[in-house]
Amino acid sequence: MHELSVTENIIDICLRHARNHGARRIVRINLVLGELTGIVDQCITFYWDMLAKDTIAAQAELVFRKVPVVARCRECGEEYRPENLELRCPRCGGEQAELVSGREFRVESIEVD
Ligand SMILES: [Zn+2]
Repeated sequence: MHELSVTENIIDICLRHARNHGARRIVRINLVLGELTGIVDQCITFYWDMLAKDTIAAQAELVFRKVPVVARCRECGEEYRPENLELRCPRCGGEQAELVSGREFRVESIEVD
């Protein structure tokens, strides 16, 4: 997967943020992780230990908030969690649905010291 470059990205963001705030170290990073991204949180943590080793983010705790896949039916407005990525609406059977969530991956907040 692309976890390596994703992790590099997050570290960049966090270090820049910490520097701007004159932080001595990064304590905790809260991340939002959509189910559909296919990103595995253990991989991020693994690469993090490797890449952040000599930075002020080395001891940071990574907290992942997993976001489920949610779809909204364009016909009746029903919101539901599609099973096995079957997007058909469980209420009206409509096949036109849009994704409300599940694709996001971002840094939600950073706690520094
Ligand atoms: Zn519907």
